[in-house]
Amino acid sequence: MLNKRLVQTFSRLVQINSVSKNETRFHTYLLNSLNDLGLVVREDDSRNQTKLGGNNIVATLVGNMKNEPLFFSCHTDTVPPGEGIEVEEIDGNLYSKGETILGADDKAGIAIILEAIKQIQDQSIPHGTIEFVFCPGEEIGLIGSSALDMSLIEAKNGYVLDSGGPVGHVTIASPTLYMYEVVIEGQAAHAGIEPEKGVSVVDVLAEALPAIKTGRLDDNTTANIGLIKGGDATNVVLDHLIVKGEIRSVDIEKAHRLVQEMTSAFQQASEKHGAAVSINTSKMATGFDISDDDQVMQLLLKSAENLEYEVMREVSGGGSDANVFNEKGKRVVNLSIGYENIHTTDEYIPIIEMERAVQLVIELIKNSPTKVE
Ligand SMILES: [Zn+2]
Repeated sequence: MLNKRLVQTFSRLVQINSVSKNETRFHTYLLNSLNDLGLVVREDDSRNQTKLGGNNIVATLVGNMKNEPLFFSCHTDTVPPGEGIEVEEIDGNLYSKGETILGADDKAGIAIILEAIKQIQDQSIPHGTIEFVFCPGEEIGLIGSSALDMSLIEAKNGYVLDSGGPVGHVTIASPTLYMYEVVIEGQAAHAGIEPEKGVSVVDVLAEALPAIKTGRLDDNTTANIGLIKGGDATNVVLDHLIVKGEIRSVDIEKAHRLVQEMTSAFQQASEKHGAAVSINTSKMATGFDISDDDQVMQLLLKSAENLEYEVMREVSGGGSDANVFNEKGKRVVNLSIGYENIHTTDEYIPIIEMERAVQLVIELIKNSPTKVE
């Protein structure tokens, strides 16, 4: 039997526009809903700093058992076109009417959480302390979660409900991503009359490249030089070159090492040939890698087994709030909640997957181990 209340909650949530930076009205609605459910609702004051439409919200379902606290997290913003969303049900799947995204990313997660809380209360299911964390501005660079003071969250282990595909799939790892830009300055000279007066940045590049690894370096590591640009005439010794590239690895140390290798290759080559070099490296995302031995995975594996859900471990190519939580010391995986074709007007979600996700959230809460004092 399909859960009407869940679908109604979801439809209501997506009808309140909350494209990134414009989350205000949605936050007001969500704060009211959480208060109505009797949760202890707190906000940080990150909005001053982030200039988003709302603060981060931490809502606590106070425990009536001494189980390890857990947290669940969703983001409250959507991508455009996300205004005036109307939900249409076709064969058990929820779609938008076609002009907008659906917003299941990530409001399906929020609807799942609200429904799980209602079922726990309706059925008087005993539980430890559970924290629900809602962050704005995820889609424009994990801005809300990055500004969140993690001391507001007691739980060490958490589940982000913000991944596509069937329930049971779980993102256990995500790469650290570095992007870099190298500017090499040599000395121009007439290539036919006095080339010896020039410093060719081509020589620098040729010297540096053999020491820079690119392509697939191992199962979870890639590196690429994606842009090389410079020069404008055949008769001028090339004196200016820009090189842009990236490095991705689930192994944070390895990503860092590759950045250092690239940096010293360009520095040494520039020095040898008398060129100047400036290298700008930015860490765009901090990855994570959670093993089956981790408590957060142990609990997931046990809960999925109880429900007879098949667990499929995935490595993500992109970032989510899970990256931020892990970077800040929590242990967090990202659970698939059923949506497909995100960030397009073809986005949809099967109702059955949302229901399966509600059961998974409840099962995780039920099975959270007894707290060791
Ligand atoms: Zn999302």
